[in-house]
Amino acid sequence: MASAPASSSETCSLDEHLTCSICMEMFEDPVTTDCGHSFCKKCLDLCHEYAHLCPMCKKPLSRIPDVNIVLRDIVQQQKVEKIKEEDDDIYTGEDIYTDQTQRGRRRCNTLGRGRQSTRRETG
Ligand SMILES: [Zn+2]
Ligand SMILES: [Zn+2]
Repeated sequence: MASAPASSSETCSLDEHLTCSICMEMFEDPVTTDCGHSFCKKCLDLCHEYAHLCPMCKKPLSRIPDVNIVLRDIVQQQKVEKIKEEDDDIYTGEDIYTDQTQRGRRRCNTLGRGRQSTRRETG
């Protein structure tokens, strides 16, 4: 019972953390600055040409940090998950088709009101 299935909302919030605030896309070769902000390496490279500051908090940046390998792996994982989800949609499409044919044959009574039996007083 310890491992509950991850909800879709969880993935959404993770996506947010993996988004570069410069290009608004998922990180590409993410780098994390001394101040703790993360950007794509190419995005920070561009900003660094104009000002040696962190684009988020304007803290001085002497150099571009190395690629954050852990973060890059997480981004890769997320991208793979997204591709998987898209693939799943194709398969469920077939399932829906067969379900519809079965449902067409099955007749279900969804009427809430049945025949009301009048109670007779005996005695
Ligand atoms: Zn970027
Ligand atoms: Zn910063």
